[in-house]
Amino acid sequence: MTFKEKGLLIVLSGPSGVGKGTVCKALRQSGTNLQYSISVTTRAPREGEIDGIHYYFKSRDEFQHMIREKKLLEWAEYVGNYYGTPIDYVRQTLDEGKDVILEIEVQGFFQVKERFPEGIFIFLAPPSLQELKKRITGRGTETAELIQNRLTVAKSEIDLMKHYDYVVENDEVHAACERIESIVTAEHCKRERI
Ligand code: 5GP
Repeated sequence: MTFKEKGLLIVLSGPSGVGKGTVCKALRQSGTNLQYSISVTTRAPREGEIDGIHYYFKSRDEFQHMIREKKLLEWAEYVGNYYGTPIDYVRQTLDEGKDVILEIEVQGFFQVKERFPEGIFIFLAPPSLQELKKRITGRGTETAELIQNRLTVAKSEIDLMKHYDYVVENDEVHAACERIESIVTAEHCKRERI
């Protein structure tokens, strides 16, 4: 028996380089029923990134227009670029009873928590700062200055994990996915009882 009408909003957040993208991709491939929100960004596409699949790539003017028109559930300026979540897709998908996962940085997390307190907030944590540095550097897509900026932001973000419902350590991608899937299953069981 189920009384569930709306889907669950799951927010996966945590420092850049921790592996949020890799974990989301693995979750998608593991055949879970989570729907993935595609963010809007003013950052230039990296090699292999496709507009409408990895991000919607926009100019700063276009992004600011979306902010003014209240088209974003949350947005943040992160290391010189804007990132945001289109609100219509999230609303519509939740209304269809499907679960949506957002992969966002920490400033955005606070905005979603304010607007959707019933969301499920998961902090993806690195095993250590050394490991995080290795992952950001190993990606090979950033300049030394950008890597340093991302690490500085990451250190302050790690202090904020106490504000989340769950902390999942990303020591190994499949183990992290299993923990997230268990959280989603448990949250469904909790709501169906209400
Ligand atoms: P990247 O440039 O590496 O793709 O993303 C930089 C950071 O922005 C990552 O921590 C990523 O999770 C975050 N991010 C991606 N999309 C969004 C979004 O829609 N909103 C917010 N607040 N952060 C996002």
